[in-house]
Amino acid sequence: MTSITSREVHLASRPTGVPTSDNFKLVDNTVDEPGDGEILVKNLWMSVDPAMRPRMIDRKSYITPYEIGKVLEGRAIGLVVKSNSSEFQEGEYVFGTEGWREYYLSTGEGLTKIEPGDTPVEAYLGALGMTGLTAYSGLIRIGEIKQGDTVFVSAAAGAVGSIACQIAKNNGCRVIASAGSDEKVTWLKEVARVDEAFNYKTVPDIKAEIARLCPEGIDVNFENVGGDHFEGALAQMNEFGRVVLCGLISTYNDAESAPGLRGMFYAIARRLKIQGYVVIDHLDMLDDFRAEMAAWIKGGQMHWKQTVFEGLENSPDALIGLFRGDNFGKMLVKIAVDQDKV
Ligand code: NDP
Repeated sequence: MTSITSREVHLASRPTGVPTSDNFKLVDNTVDEPGDGEILVKNLWMSVDPAMRPRMIDRKSYITPYEIGKVLEGRAIGLVVKSNSSEFQEGEYVFGTEGWREYYLSTGEGLTKIEPGDTPVEAYLGALGMTGLTAYSGLIRIGEIKQGDTVFVSAAAGAVGSIACQIAKNNGCRVIASAGSDEKVTWLKEVARVDEAFNYKTVPDIKAEIARLCPEGIDVNFENVGGDHFEGALAQMNEFGRVVLCGLISTYNDAESAPGLRGMFYAIARRLKIQGYVVIDHLDMLDDFRAEMAAWIKGGQMHWKQTVFEGLENSPDALIGLFRGDNFGKMLVKIAVDQDKV
């Protein structure tokens, strides 16, 4: 039997503050030939998600924390390179959660086949995958957006935010966006068609800027960031407004004891609905999401960007880069190219 060496990234230690390369360890693992009913998958693309940072901490959550000394997990798209399964053929693309490694064996349980057609396969980790569904389910189901609403989106040039802005525009909303560079702000205005956008790193006061750009208040806050963004949006919420609590990236590196949110009284006075949600609870919306995305793409009303770190060894830096705003659109690691042989 021939086995192959597969590099994988382990959690070396739990971070305090922003993760560093010392929190990760690149390890050689041996992967055997697939047994009966098994397939060998070569990972091509890995999704890099802010939620990986909370998983580096040992605390109860909707998903199990990473374990020290064990390989990390994350969404990835791979190629079936050997198959002893009647359900998978060599050359097929599969989506699974065994990221952070080059190869793995699988019975196929938990894997979904991807048939990309003319679309680059990695888009199924971004706009056409869970990233896009996060934006869609958040706005449609949690935010209950309707024509004429004012929607404020933070981290708006990121993976989820950039899709959320366009979904809101495609539903007839007025969209105000925040992002961390002038280049991102320009793209949001010129390509994503938002009505107003600002660079939160250069404005003197984030809360004042949100107030200035939302003179008629906010109906739906698509919250990705927390901190001053969240407090600034809360203060401008209209009565019976909806807060789609998607993420709080500005707090993910904080200690549990860090100061919390101010301005929650607005939630009472304005009768707000504030709802946290996790995309995996909304998979029933996948068909609607795909149908609407296909129509928007065809009509030129949906665009996306991606930032690619090449090589598994650079995946820790890609994750750390999310907290520097290194990514424009979806952060991905290209682990291999599909023409490579095993
Ligand atoms: P992004 O592509 O948006 O990447 C993160 C971005 O956040 C960076 O590019 C950076 O952009 C911005 N950022 C980082 N640190 C800060 C900070 N301190 N203050 C303000 N902005 C900051 O990631 P995703 O699209 O994958 O995720 C966006 C949010 O959605 C996250 O909070 C994530 O946890 C959440 N999420 C929630 C899901 C759910 O099911 N609820 C599913 C997926 C994601 P910039 O240059 O603008 O600073």
